[in-house]
Amino acid sequence: MTAKLIDGKAFAAELRAWIGTEVAELKAESGVTPGLAVVLVGEDPASAVYVKNKGIQTREAGMASFEHKLAPETSEADLLALVARLNADPAVHGILVQLPLPQQIDEQKVLAAIDPRKDVDGFHVVNVGLLATGGAGLVPCTPLGCIMLLKDQLGDLSGLKAVVVGRSNIVGKPMAQLLLKESCTVTIAHSRTRDLAAECRSADILVAAVGRPEFIRGDWIKPGATVIDVGINRVPADGGKTRLVGDVAFAEAVEVAGAITPVPGGVGPMTIACLLANTLTAARRSVG
Ligand code: NDP
Repeated sequence: MTAKLIDGKAFAAELRAWIGTEVAELKAESGVTPGLAVVLVGEDPASAVYVKNKGIQTREAGMASFEHKLAPETSEADLLALVARLNADPAVHGILVQLPLPQQIDEQKVLAAIDPRKDVDGFHVVNVGLLATGGAGLVPCTPLGCIMLLKDQLGDLSGLKAVVVGRSNIVGKPMAQLLLKESCTVTIAHSRTRDLAAECRSADILVAAVGRPEFIRGDWIKPGATVIDVGINRVPADGGKTRLVGDVAFAEAVEVAGAITPVPGGVGPMTIACLLANTLTAARRSVG
């Protein structure tokens, strides 16, 4: 058997096109242009690429993009002052502070300072709490993208057994909450899990968010399962080059799974599309 490939790139393009239409409608109806402010502290090359791509896709969707690039030695007080200004700015509906932040800045303090209504990353404790209690907050972008792909692939998820490998605040935990909300039976596995392979083998839906290249093997996967590979790992390739691989051993998994997201081209493109979706949601809520 060869698994169906879940084309996150195509899904994300469709989602962005839909967001563009909704943005135009919101502008026509209320005169409001959704605005996303992205703050980058320092010169981490990977973060700079993410920020650049976010800016391009924000403008392509017809939204306003505000980019704030701060020096690596920026103080916590200066960053908090910028967040306060963005909180108060009516043209800004979404605020994203690119992580990781330099050592002198307390990440949690900065995340807590963002107005939860503008917290398009969904990392503020208010939004974490709303997700856990079934409220209408803003949901972290990567898990939101994963659940969209799963619902598109499988329709109703209720009653399915889901295993999430990874318990980070930005992927694993919110992913588990979203699957629970869809009435899956959810297991969260992590580095202390006993017999991880057996846990994975019980899953109708397997989500890998581990950060270890090709860690999940083909014989850990239940035949016909749907596999969502969140991992993005850069590994050495021929000719001194590098290539991206996921947390799942793709060549093995594709022989067993029913459907699987490739890396790249699976979950990755969904993350920025969901960031735009969250900015649109925040802008809509701001006009009631
Ligand atoms: P973290 O490092 O924060 O979390 C990794 C999780 O994997 C932890 O909960 C850890 O367990 C668990 N883990 C580590 N080793 C093992 C093991 N041997 N067995 C079982 N569990 C293990 O990573 P993130 O959640 O931030 O990211 C996960 C992956 O997703 C990364 O590859 C990252 O690059 C990618 N990513 C992709 C995004 C996208 O847009 N597609 C966005 C965000 C992340 P424990 O808690 O016990 O230490």
